[in-house]
Amino acid sequence: MQTGYYDRDRYDVGDSVLERHRSAAETVLSRDRYGHLIDGEWVDAADGEEGRAIDATTGEALATVQVGSAADVDRAVEAARATFEGSWGQLSPRQRADRLAEIADRLEDRKTAIAKLDSLEAGKPNLHALFVDCEVLIEQFRHFAALARSTDEGRVVPTGDEKHVFTRREPYGVVGAISAWNFPAMFVAWKLGPALATGNAVVLKPSERATLSSLEVARVCDRVLPPGTVNVVTGLGEDVGAAMTAHDDVDKLSLTGSHASGVATLESAAQTITPTSLELGGKSPNIVFPDADLEQAILGTIVSIFFNSGQQCTAGSRLYLHREIREEFLDLLESAIDNLGVGDPLAPTTDVGPMIDHTHQSSVREYVDDAVAEGATLRIGGENAAVDDDLEGAPFVQPTVLTDVGDDDRVGCEEVFGPVLSVFEWSDRDDVLQRANDTSYGLAAGVWTTDLGAAHEFAAELEAGTVWINTYNDLFDPAPHGGYKESGTGRELAEEALEDYSQVKTVKVNLGGVPKMG
Ligand code: NAD
Repeated sequence: MQTGYYDRDRYDVGDSVLERHRSAAETVLSRDRYGHLIDGEWVDAADGEEGRAIDATTGEALATVQVGSAADVDRAVEAARATFEGSWGQLSPRQRADRLAEIADRLEDRKTAIAKLDSLEAGKPNLHALFVDCEVLIEQFRHFAALARSTDEGRVVPTGDEKHVFTRREPYGVVGAISAWNFPAMFVAWKLGPALATGNAVVLKPSERATLSSLEVARVCDRVLPPGTVNVVTGLGEDVGAAMTAHDDVDKLSLTGSHASGVATLESAAQTITPTSLELGGKSPNIVFPDADLEQAILGTIVSIFFNSGQQCTAGSRLYLHREIREEFLDLLESAIDNLGVGDPLAPTTDVGPMIDHTHQSSVREYVDDAVAEGATLRIGGENAAVDDDLEGAPFVQPTVLTDVGDDDRVGCEEVFGPVLSVFEWSDRDDVLQRANDTSYGLAAGVWTTDLGAAHEFAAELEAGTVWINTYNDLFDPAPHGGYKESGTGRELAEEALEDYSQVKTVKVNLGGVPKMG
């Protein structure tokens, strides 16, 4: 039995919480023991190793999962290759489009269960899991179904009459997709949507910290697609993930995860020159101008840092308040935070759930404690959250606001990945722009002002893959999502992703002239 994520003691939570979680689990788990999904079959790990998927709130085991190894990755890649060269590879773009649309329809029927699985295993507030994660999950399949009809399209290159020169887009073949735990179900669609639309077969490795919803989404896909088109190998990053990135029969890699995993993936992929897309972390600035609609900016700030309990890549964890509105803003923010429901992710009133586990809770708390030791002021929160007694043993962190944070303090520079907001003050537009950009990350940024002209200029100068103006974390539209600088390479969520999952071939036809150069 693996230790760590798979092997935890039950947390000290009340019987009513345990009962609620057990009965929810019973209604949504399609099995109590999951295999890897390879070639349309649930199969055991080659070396027989198993682990347990854990409920983030109670610490109880939800189901048994396989802890894979390189041998399992080999089997899955072989199955994906065979399907790519066989039945899946023979489908026309229109047929692929129809399959993706059918997956979306079937997911619609399963979305309540899938959302609940993420609430159990990842501690996601259930209404968010249902109305954000699952909405985007399904919408992504629909979006890429619509695009799939024309993904093979190329262009005709202008030449003289003696030649016909054109391009066509082709799939890479086998895609190795590695995913993170913070939006487990949704990320399956972010990767599978463009990979399948362009005609690839996929081997997916979900995070070891949240596995079950990915297996359920893959199960739905498998019922619609030829066996082996979507395979899932579960297990640890250093084993299964590393085996995927080093595999010489994986043609394209895509990873969502931390900077460290991104570096490891690139280093490994370099040995086989495997094209790699990376969706990595961030330390995003959220800048409030003195003329902003404060009510709107407060709501946006809450969403920017406390949505998903702060466990989001796009978290607006650096809040820059103009000196003129700083105090008023912080007072209003405090009242808004008081109104947040922190508690059981299954309760419909919950806005902020637990951290994914106690290891992560400790890491988040350490950032706060170190910041205070370095001179930051704890304006709001900072403790393990004061939830009701029944939940005391669960890994909660209170929504936290730190002021007097230095630009170079660890909490202001590193990704905390929890409900912790660092507040900075500014008064000069060019100075705050320079400070906002002074980070190795570049995933997202927020700007709040009623002067849209100024906002456009500012957005153009921000070094970020997405700039939200008078809104934050809006990922519903199929607009490209991805990082500048060390936040990643490539784009997901929109048609730009099709370029990441396909390659261009040029075909030059001589129509009868003398074959020649130039
Ligand atoms: P993580 O890097 O620990 O794990 C991500 C995935 O990579 C997991 O499946 C893990 O098993 C795997 N992995 C770990 N080591 C590996 C290795 N050596 N080779 C191959 N695979 C390996 O990240 P996490 O804790 O799951 O997720 C949080 C991180 O992900 C944060 O940094 C967050 O910002 C980032 N993230 C980015 C986006 C985005 O869209 N840019 C979205 C979500 C999360």
